[in-house]
Amino acid sequence: MSGLRELYQEVIIDHSRQPRNFGVLLDANHHKEGFNPLCGDKLKLYVVEKNGVIEKMQFEGSGCAISVASASLMTEVMRGKTRAEVEAIFNDFHQLVTHGHNADVESRLGKLAVLAGVAEYPARVKCATLAWHTLKAAIADDPQAVSTE
Ligand code: ZN
Repeated sequence: MSGLRELYQEVIIDHSRQPRNFGVLLDANHHKEGFNPLCGDKLKLYVVEKNGVIEKMQFEGSGCAISVASASLMTEVMRGKTRAEVEAIFNDFHQLVTHGHNADVESRLGKLAVLAGVAEYPARVKCATLAWHTLKAAIADDPQAVSTE
């Protein structure tokens, strides 16, 4: 497992240093800010949804490697997904980062499984899930600010 662990860390480092889908989306029809005061992670998420499908998603902000990598991976995975699929992936991801390795969940999540190790560090779970809670609130058009506290 140690080789796999290293690979996973490389993916996280890569996404945190070079986040994908980073920047403002001017044609977004949902946007939301999220904040994790425990760590200082902040992000703004922009979503273009058409006919119930996520066409595009981008984010900007700053935070620790886990929060940025998780947001970056999320924007890649969610492209082209329906709301029902977003909900299912959210639930799987939440299960993974709170309960750790689970073969079924990891096979459904694909590359998002790199974040399974977060479950061993309870303080980092909020870093990993910040973008996800922000997405949920964004597509629900929830007027409340998203804070992990
Ligand atoms: Zn963090």
